[in-house]
Amino acid sequence: MYPKSFQKLIEQFSSLPGIGPKMAERLVLSLFKKDQDKLDTFAQALTNLHDIKPCAKCFNITQDNLCTICTNTTRNRSKLCIVEEPLDIIPLERSRAFDGLYHVLGGTIKKRDSSKLTTDKLLQRIETEPITEIIIATNFTTEGDMTAMHLKQKLAPFKIKISRLVRGLATGSDIEYADDMTIRSALTNRETF
Ligand SMILES: [Zn+2]
Repeated sequence: MYPKSFQKLIEQFSSLPGIGPKMAERLVLSLFKKDQDKLDTFAQALTNLHDIKPCAKCFNITQDNLCTICTNTTRNRSKLCIVEEPLDIIPLERSRAFDGLYHVLGGTIKKRDSSKLTTDKLLQRIETEPITEIIIATNFTTEGDMTAMHLKQKLAPFKIKISRLVRGLATGSDIEYADDMTIRSALTNRETF
């Protein structure tokens, strides 16, 4: 029905989370109506995604070797907040309630397979960096809870304060979608874990 290139783009959009075939069709049609300049900018932004990689230290996303948080000298280097995915950092940063550094685990424990997580790198950081407090900010889901427990065991040999975001965030909720107020309250009321 549509030209091949049009159909291909619709397929690409529909492969994204939350976008059905109808929505994909609408997006492609709206792109089609844009000026060539706008289309070029859009295409270039997509191409530039290739340059994004994990930060060598914390596994946040970055264009350089280290991310902008790791290289920021005003951050408190004694506090480390552990999150599941890079996107979880965004609401925490927006809340402005945390001034320490982060560590991105790269997911949760699935069927006790922790080999794909960056836990080993995390332990190395604790040994080599002046970290005195760990804040576990995994999601309040079954997997997030399991991962938090796994971290607690791994961190037990180190004599550091461990806390987890507790109040304000409902069970089953994703940190990624939490609003500023909720995050701020969850950070302020964090409990020893
Ligand atoms: Zn980093």
